[in-house]
Amino acid sequence: MLKRVLIANRGEIALRIIRACRELDVETVAVWSQADESALHAQLATRSLCIGPAKAADSYLNQEAILSAALATGCDAVHPGYGFLSENPDFADRCVQAGLKFIGPPGEVIRKLGSKAAARTLAQGAGVPVVPGSDGPVKNARQARTLAEQVGYPVLLKASAGGGGRGMRQVDSGQELELRFKEAQAEAVACFGDGEMYLEKLILNPRHIEFQIMADTQGHVVHLGERDCSIQRRRQKLVEESPSRALTPRLREEMGRAAVAAAQAAGYVGAGTVEFVLAPDGQFYFIEMNTRIQVEHPVTELVTGVDLVKEQLRVAAGLPLSFQQEDIKVSGHAIECRINAEDPERDFMPCPGTTTFLHLPGGPGVRVDTALYTGYEVPPYYDSLAAKVLTHAPTRLEAIRRMRRALEELIIEGYPTNAPLAHLIMHDRAFVQGQYDTGFLEQNLDRLLELARTCDRLMEGEP
Ligand code: ADP
Ligand code: ADP
Ligand code: MG
Repeated sequence: MLKRVLIANRGEIALRIIRACRELDVETVAVWSQADESALHAQLATRSLCIGPAKAADSYLNQEAILSAALATGCDAVHPGYGFLSENPDFADRCVQAGLKFIGPPGEVIRKLGSKAAARTLAQGAGVPVVPGSDGPVKNARQARTLAEQVGYPVLLKASAGGGGRGMRQVDSGQELELRFKEAQAEAVACFGDGEMYLEKLILNPRHIEFQIMADTQGHVVHLGERDCSIQRRRQKLVEESPSRALTPRLREEMGRAAVAAAQAAGYVGAGTVEFVLAPDGQFYFIEMNTRIQVEHPVTELVTGVDLVKEQLRVAAGLPLSFQQEDIKVSGHAIECRINAEDPERDFMPCPGTTTFLHLPGGPGVRVDTALYTGYEVPPYYDSLAAKVLTHAPTRLEAIRRMRRALEELIIEGYPTNAPLAHLIMHDRAFVQGQYDTGFLEQNLDRLLELARTCDRLMEGEP
């Protein structure tokens, strides 16, 4: 096993990694920015040290500082979590050059899959269906327009380097293509420093279905079933569940096989996620592969009983996967609600502040992954994710009822969160029936927010 792991991250995912390490008797080194001196990850690790100022570019993205910290503390591996440096192939390479194990796939694999246009080509080569669109990147708006006319509007312009729903624009007609191309490219340059664009047909009313993959250095690749992440705001996930109501056993098998084939074609190692959109007619299309542990990985942990982070550590230590495909059995149903420090009434604007009071739900079948505590000041510099509330139960309906009561128990005071909205989603007829697609939230948001306002007025005793 590994001896000492540096965790190049913060927040709930840093705690998640510390927990896995402790259970395996692996020591941990936490790094923190000046804004995170009182953050839990800095307290709970075996050792912790400051790596720089608050701004991510100066701390959690500061490769020099992180590598020096790992070497100075005698670490043998680095876990990047998600976000920050997790999908940076140069950082993965530099870890290895410094004699440290990078807990993730090799740099060259991250590089190959990090360009979403190149990943499409790779998937296609492995016989995995991709969305009709460009073969690789498009050079300019003019070329995009010619292609768009061939595949038919509406189309999506996407940044090769994109992530988190950024660098992406829907285009409904030739007239608006040039403007949208400029917008998307400018956003991609600003967010990712890379303006390469490609084009896909927009699949109408799809579900977002992704498969969790684990691969070891001995060449075994196993999938751990799907997650349905169709409840999204601005193409970012809010609610995830497994199994998906949209898959038949046959489709699940077919998509699982495709996900494994894509991972194999990439020479994949470690934990990863193959994302698809599923059209209402049952046709599925590869959209991208995320080469890291995913925010929503606990959904899969609950239904499979596999500890994905421990498995990542095992694989990094050179051990084979602790299971084979036949061993993976999905049991019951799991749901995750991402609770963010944000105001749904103000276009989901991030609203960091001081956590004046915190009460977390518990009891049967409830898991909460969070780095919050009463008195904790959420810094404004990073992601607005405050807590992940998960429930697990024998059936989907029981998992939904459990989520309702878990969200009723949850109290976060000091700043607005989307928890009331999540609670209303758990009561929505279409959601409860499992009949929703990626447009659900946008189509229902005004109605749900109006309901929330009515609930507030009733609670305050107004007529
Ligand atoms: P996914 O759902 O694919 O795990 P998200 O949609 O949550 O990813 O986020 C997209 C991008 O933003 C990814 O690169 C992810 O690593 C990053 N990200 C998401 N949440 C956080 C967070 N709390 N801190 C830092 N980065 C994050
Ligand atoms: P990111 O890298 O930002 O996660 P993705 O390519 O995974 O970008 O797309 C984000 C979301 O946009 C998906 O979850 C899905 O809801 C939607 N999406 C992406 N591609 C398509 C497509 N071709 N047709 C319809 N929806 C899509
Ligand atoms: Mg994605």
